[in-house]
Amino acid sequence: MLLLLALGCGGPRVWAQAPADPNQLLQQLNEVQIDFTQVYVLRDTALTRDRVKLYFNRGFVAFLTPVAGEVTGAVFVGDGEILLIPPNAVEKRNLTQFTGAPILTEPFDFTLLRFTDQTARELRARARPPDPEDSEQPTGLFEVWNPLIRRRSPDHSVRILQDLLGRRDLPFFHARLQGVNLGVFQVFVDERLPETVVVGAVREKNQQWYADVWCSFPSRAAEAGGAETQASSSRVVSYKIDTRLAEDHSLEGRAELTLESRSAVERILTFELSRWLKVSEVRDEAGNRLPFFPGPAVDQAGAAAPGNGWVAVALPAPYPVGAHFRLNFSYQGNVIAEVGNDLLYVGERGSWYPSRGFKERATYDLTFRFPAPLTLVATGRRLEEKTADGVTWSHWVSDGAIPVAGFNLGLYQTTVCQAENTTISVYVTTEAEAALKKRQAATQGAQALAVVRSRTGRSSLEVVSRPVTPLEPVAGLEDVADQALRAVQYFTTLFGPVPYSHVAISQLPAGFGQGWPQLVYLPTLSFLRASERSELGLDDKSEELHYRVMVAHEIAHQWWGNYLGWKSYHDQWLSEGFASYAAALFLAREPDGERKFHELLGAYKRSLLSKTKEGRTVESGGPIWLGERLSNSLDPRGYLTIVYMKACWVLQMLRMLMTDPAKPAGERFFRMLRDFVQAYGGKNASTEDFIRHAEKYMTPALDLEHDGRLEWFFNPWVYGTGIPTYKLTADVQPRGANKFLVQGRIEQSGVGADFEMLVPVMATFARDRKVRLGLVHVTRTGGSFRFTSTRRPARVAIDEDSILAVVQ
Ligand SMILES: [Zn+2]
Repeated sequence: MLLLLALGCGGPRVWAQAPADPNQLLQQLNEVQIDFTQVYVLRDTALTRDRVKLYFNRGFVAFLTPVAGEVTGAVFVGDGEILLIPPNAVEKRNLTQFTGAPILTEPFDFTLLRFTDQTARELRARARPPDPEDSEQPTGLFEVWNPLIRRRSPDHSVRILQDLLGRRDLPFFHARLQGVNLGVFQVFVDERLPETVVVGAVREKNQQWYADVWCSFPSRAAEAGGAETQASSSRVVSYKIDTRLAEDHSLEGRAELTLESRSAVERILTFELSRWLKVSEVRDEAGNRLPFFPGPAVDQAGAAAPGNGWVAVALPAPYPVGAHFRLNFSYQGNVIAEVGNDLLYVGERGSWYPSRGFKERATYDLTFRFPAPLTLVATGRRLEEKTADGVTWSHWVSDGAIPVAGFNLGLYQTTVCQAENTTISVYVTTEAEAALKKRQAATQGAQALAVVRSRTGRSSLEVVSRPVTPLEPVAGLEDVADQALRAVQYFTTLFGPVPYSHVAISQLPAGFGQGWPQLVYLPTLSFLRASERSELGLDDKSEELHYRVMVAHEIAHQWWGNYLGWKSYHDQWLSEGFASYAAALFLAREPDGERKFHELLGAYKRSLLSKTKEGRTVESGGPIWLGERLSNSLDPRGYLTIVYMKACWVLQMLRMLMTDPAKPAGERFFRMLRDFVQAYGGKNASTEDFIRHAEKYMTPALDLEHDGRLEWFFNPWVYGTGIPTYKLTADVQPRGANKFLVQGRIEQSGVGADFEMLVPVMATFARDRKVRLGLVHVTRTGGSFRFTSTRRPARVAIDEDSILAVVQ
């Protein structure tokens, strides 16, 4: 009864005593510095934080000025050492790539600590006052380290404030270490996060900054199943966003978020919001102004990078678990750039409103006011639109809960078509963006040589500026609509009905696309004709195919990524790999599609086997399971190559394994995918969810370990690295009338000792007719096979089109 009462009460609880002022606390946290009176000698002291051990062998510790009576930081100058043994092979291997060893043992001569745990108490217990007679004295503490502390403090202030004003049983610990060999690197032990321990460093490569994650893993307690982590203290149920776009394309927004409380003690809530947007106020439902704190204007590397911003809000008091409450945000700024020829580019597609990121689904009610000549398209269905006095007002609502909302606008031409129960509309401008025109002029200009005859009649060869035919994205309007229509129809047969009543495709003046729920962003390049792309220098076959399949890839995201989401960064291949494979399957249906399909997968294979500057293959950068961590200072392409292309191959192999050549191609595989969409539609799935699901569809032949599991397949391909090399030797002998014995061996190399695979062996007969003879179980000791055939094969070989391998 009490609980019901508590749930029914929507308003904040009244505190017995006035809570501390969050604004004041935050300011104090931002301004902490070394406390002159708190400098001590520290020797032979160790701190253990989960699997991380910090040794302070000999030096000085100085505590930072307290905030609300609590010490939240310290610096150590002297001889120290860190020791960390990552808990699994994946993290050990990843750490080795960055540091050269699977275990982190690094001496350091300086560290800045920030914490909300017992660190101050533990260090103080071992510290003793310095002896003025001692020859060793702390140096540089104030001159060198105070400015650093001042620069870095805002990085952690909001996280520390969260604990000072909220629950204390999931504390935070951070060490910024000056390593003797490895340079500056950082250790986070944040018990609120599912991956409690994160070690990494900010590194620069080719003028780009990368947040390299050396290792990241859950706490020991979480692994044992006992720990509670708390990713968020509340969840957004619905967004109501009113956006005004001025003539100069600046944005003024008001967002009303309805949230559901998940914690009865938390007061600080953080929201993602572009750094280009400035929050002017946040109010609760009673109209009270709430304190809010924008994230630092610069990122970890100190660069003023766009996007990735955030804003934190302090509630006057926590709400009971399950209670719904509202927050109203007002913000202004510019997230839209003009990129020439009247084209607009919505740069901050995901952070133009305060949100909780992609992981949570919510309903969206969006209204926009914008200059009338423009057309605006948004996620959802357009309910209403009217124009008066040069301003258009447009109202959009989502089909149920979706993971993200976006919009796009321009001087568009449009076309509409109907696929099954889904209306598809396509929006594109007449002209291409300035950057593409420039690129066209550059490529064409360089090629233009002409015989020029002078007045005297002498002729010479000269470079002339050839008239450039204007690029016409609008000419691709019907073709894109047709591709989208066919993709929706085909994918419906493969994965089940489209979950949305309307899908808009709109032009993005950039080199990439994005498939959002009910709104696809497609680059201008995908609207151009193949001949126009060739004029732009996209002669490379795989690059051409890339833009060719992009419509289908982004449409496939309606199922993979939007309707069925991913649980954590480890699982993003369920979105990108599956969309890539769906797009490849779509390509296979074009005229001469089978050849194009294998050409695309062949190009993916070459990318995976291509070498980095250090001489290793791109594929060896890490397993699919590391997701976005694969793009780092060692290889900025890692994520795209491994999570898109290798994952595409994993599905191709799974389909091959699940296909009985005697039955309709891929039937079992597609039934498995369709059922997966049905089981996880509207939810987020994990890699483990997918593996357990796939196991339900395996054939007896796939049950290599006789345990009903497919771990032998997924462990090396999704959680591991390595592309095998196979060498086949075969021999054909007649065995009576219409009977031939095909026998031989396959040797395996280039992969770990536990790598095993079912390798498809094909026989080629006259007129290139290929028949799969069977699957050969190949392990580190190789594999032998014996098949019979009614006709003599002209050739026996490994089916290279169905397996990601180097075949010798
Ligand atoms: Zn994608």
